[in-house]
Amino acid sequence: MTPDDERLLRRAIELAAAGRASGNPPFGSLLAADDGTILAEEHNTTITDRDISLHPELKLAVWAARELTPEAAAATTMYTSCQPCGMCTGAIERSGLGRVVYALSGAQLDDLKSVTTAAKVTMTGPALHDEAKVPVEGYY
Ligand SMILES: [Zn+2]
Repeated sequence: MTPDDERLLRRAIELAAAGRASGNPPFGSLLAADDGTILAEEHNTTITDRDISLHPELKLAVWAARELTPEAAAATTMYTSCQPCGMCTGAIERSGLGRVVYALSGAQLDDLKSVTTAAKVTMTGPALHDEAKVPVEGYY
């Protein structure tokens, strides 16, 4: 963790506070080029936009995939106030971003909550392999 990492992480924490002040969950993130230039900033807007997918990390991963070349994305770091959730981690991996620096871990976040917010979902599978593989074979 460099002094520049800490400066940019503090900015992500400021964005988290701004998100909370706007009536949303307290999470903020930004993208920075390898010279420390901030490319984009976001905070959580899941409440005000009534969209469960609007975590700042997901919004920035989508932005990076749209706006950056693969080389630029790989040289870009996401700074985020909390460790990305599973949804955002998947998007970050698909975006090509090269690095994530976070403040609170998921476990540290859970320790700050007075209620459990994650619901359990039942997943069933794999199934129908021979039929399901048909539209996939040869695509990759
Ligand atoms: Zn997330």
